Amino acid sequence: MFRALSTGRRRGAALQRLHSTLVIAEHDNQKLTPITLNAIAAAGHLGGDVSCLVAGTNCTQVAEELAKVQGVSKVFVAQHDAYKGFLPEELTPLILQAQKQFGFTHICAGASAFGKNLLPRVAAKLDVAPISDIIEIKSPDTFVRTIYAGNALCTVKCDEPVKVLTIRATSFEPAAAAGGNAGSGTVSPPAPVGLSKWLEQSLTKSDRPELTSAKVVVSGGRGLKSGDNFKLLYDLADQLHAAVGASRAAVDAGFVPNDMQVGQTGKIVAPEVYIAVGISGAIQHLAGMKDSKTIIAINKDPEAPIFQVSDYGLVADLFKAVPEMTELLKKK
Ligand code: FAD
Repeated sequence: MFRALSTGRRRGAALQRLHSTLVIAEHDNQKLTPITLNAIAAAGHLGGDVSCLVAGTNCTQVAEELAKVQGVSKVFVAQHDAYKGFLPEELTPLILQAQKQFGFTHICAGASAFGKNLLPRVAAKLDVAPISDIIEIKSPDTFVRTIYAGNALCTVKCDEPVKVLTIRATSFEPAAAAGGNAGSGTVSPPAPVGLSKWLEQSLTKSDRPELTSAKVVVSGGRGLKSGDNFKLLYDLADQLHAAVGASRAAVDAGFVPNDMQVGQTGKIVAPEVYIAVGISGAIQHLAGMKDSKTIIAINKDPEAPIFQVSDYGLVADLFKAVPEMTELLKKK
């Protein structure tokens, strides 16, 4: 028994020198969630091998999709009913088992609700400190992350034997979804923990693109004055095939549901075009959208801070400007 352990340690040490990263895939058993591609790209910056773990109830299709992603050398699949709902209580022992078997130097996932829910538990069980919301990888042990509302950055050197990281999607271009040819492997699911049980989920149904992956986002703030007035933004968004977001003030006022909130305590987006309507530009809002490629602001106050970060600004009453824009787009 002692010999087996020491051999395992030696092998572990050899793998550690090479750097090997395990990316935990986020998916719905049918399709990969786009943030996984950003996490894979970030893992590529760490050097060494990039493997992915797909855990689900019936997820071979996702594993096939992942095998084609550029930069992935191996895809591990684990399927069990216990992975319904992707509960961290059930996924953590699986990741720990994979870690024990393969001795990864880094374990990472996207900094989404999934990753932020799961990886702190994994880190705690490994007795290491996780590093969240990484925006830049300087070396395999040095990372840049934001600490307050995206306005303060800190560079962290991590000496943990296993680095457990969540990756901010908007800071890394996604890995190419085609052209790869990864090998496959399986990780046998450990016995279910049974601590908690996934019962159901109710998702908001929308024909519009999903907020975090949309190419164009139209967001409204307190300036909209009511939930009914958001119709102005939905009409504009329909012309632009855009997702609709909101400031926290609009959410807190009950204009729209909180899954539409963009910002420090909401969603992080970086679309090609972000149109901020009746939003002042508080730092907590900017934290969620300032990486957008082109920012357009419509605000009646010429001094509104949003104009300092916008590429195009329109000082106007939104109740006049937005319907005019929609009508012009309809004519095109
Ligand atoms: P306001 O600041 O009230 O701005 C409304 C704007 O609308 C004004 O600039 C006004 O000139 C303009 N306006 C009004 N009428 C019109 C009109 N007719 N036509 C054109 N323009 C008009 N905020 C977020 O958004 N996301 C977050 O994730 C978030 N997290 C937070 C976390 C913490 C810990 C804290 C303390 C705050 C957080 N906030 C967040 C809140 C943030 O500080 C601001 O209060 C909020 O972003 C303001 O929202 P707003 O711009 O819609 O409202």
